[in-house]
Amino acid sequence: MMRRFRQYIDGEFVDAARSFESIDPATGDAWSLMPEADAADVDRAVTAAHRALHDLSWSGLTPTARGRLLYRLGDLLEEQAQALAELETRDTGKVIRETSAQVAYIAEYYRYFGGLADKIEGAHLAVDKPDMEVYLRREPIGVVAAVVPWNSQLFLAAVKIGPALAAGCTVVVKASEDGPAPLLEFAQLVDQAGFPPGVVNIITGFGDPCGQRLTSHPLVSRIAFTGGPETARHVVRNSAENLSHVTLELGGKSPVLVFDDADLDNACNAIIAGIFAASGQSCVAGSRLLVQNSIHDTLVSMLSERVGKIKIGDPSDPATEMGPLATARQHRKAVEVIQSSVKAGAVLTAGGKVPPGHERGFYLEPTILQCPNNDIPCSREELFAPVLSVMRFDTEADGIAFANDTCFALAAGIFTNDLRRAHRLIRSVKAGVVWVNTYRAISPVVPFGGFGWSGLGREGGRESVMEYTRPKAVWINSSTCPFPDPFIMR
Ligand code: NAD
Repeated sequence: MMRRFRQYIDGEFVDAARSFESIDPATGDAWSLMPEADAADVDRAVTAAHRALHDLSWSGLTPTARGRLLYRLGDLLEEQAQALAELETRDTGKVIRETSAQVAYIAEYYRYFGGLADKIEGAHLAVDKPDMEVYLRREPIGVVAAVVPWNSQLFLAAVKIGPALAAGCTVVVKASEDGPAPLLEFAQLVDQAGFPPGVVNIITGFGDPCGQRLTSHPLVSRIAFTGGPETARHVVRNSAENLSHVTLELGGKSPVLVFDDADLDNACNAIIAGIFAASGQSCVAGSRLLVQNSIHDTLVSMLSERVGKIKIGDPSDPATEMGPLATARQHRKAVEVIQSSVKAGAVLTAGGKVPPGHERGFYLEPTILQCPNNDIPCSREELFAPVLSVMRFDTEADGIAFANDTCFALAAGIFTNDLRRAHRLIRSVKAGVVWVNTYRAISPVVPFGGFGWSGLGREGGRESVMEYTRPKAVWINSSTCPFPDPFIMR
């Protein structure tokens, strides 16, 4: 008997008319049944969220009370972190040592946003009309459609649900059709935390019709999307239906620049973490390594040696360092791009094939490709796989030019011990997040996001809560004089 998950709509756990199988990436076998939300399910979820938005059980709560609910959700998440981590590992193949650490940390995001709920402030405006008192209210923007991709769904949902609820919005979350188990299970915690019915709804289904209907729904006021650039273009078109606000967190082809004065041991560990953690399935994966000429060969041989020791295996084993890719589709694409890159002139320095003994499931060796230029497929395309493209550069200007030669602009890593150089690079490099002598550090306090093909807007940080509000300007006339000539603007 396969485990069957349900969707959470209007405070109830309900089945969909149809279901689909979810695949365990470690074996390639189906292990559970997921509800396949259709357009009618989406309508029910959005209608519930729209009703809840104006229902006094939610809209009548003080911001502090909303914050308390978010805090409670964070506490419940912390209590259930291990169970959810195990579910994420089972459904996505992400290794348990990563999911355990990440899920527990997500609780901090809910607490952070809970703390911000009663710090959303409007303004009093000093207008040029002495009798007028003018102030700005910050009101919830409305029903939010939150759409997430398969990787880190609990985390990517938290940076949408947290600020949306802090601002007083209601949410319909669409989990990815790949690996939705942890997010569907998380609905149990939403229910226990005591949010009124309809405030948070969690469904899953395919891009079309589920994502399509949700992001073009006339009752949705804001879309928070994470996924690939191609889907994002559909979402932007869908948003035109209702002229909804949109934020997009998309992919990357993030450069990591290593200069000859860097601490190479430190850089080596950070590079490995940047591209091989989560089997490379991370939007901020440092997938393009740019190394200054004089240290290129040394660093590449350090990396190759370290990569050879990465323990690949069962993602639920705490000793495993790298698990499978999440889907057969991703695996196929990665293998194809490795092959086309070698044909285009890249030199395979490590990995490149299915690791021996791991023919079942979607495993791929950690792979390093040395690229003669930036036009090799692996250095252009976002792969979402454990594939590192390495290029050499000579001068600082060359390094910057290579780093910026991409349509993406999400993250960048800079490794140098020269503070002046670090500052020059921070200014020049095209990215929404820059890490110096480190990589992949995150915090709820820090806004995250990119530009260009990497997206639009930011998630995290206090500004992200404001993005779920809209200002309302209020004019109050304090004068006792009668209203003047109606044909003159004042
Ligand atoms: P995807 O774009 O294929 O799917 C993302 C989500 O969009 C899924 O839930 C999918 O069902 C939905 N969707 C598909 N078609 C839709 C449509 N027409 N309308 C509305 N929704 C639709 O992405 P993926 O392959 O699941 O994930 C990988 C991508 O996500 C990569 O590009 C990766 O970089 C990106 N990502 C970005 C971040 C970030 O924070 N910047 C984080 C993680 C992943």
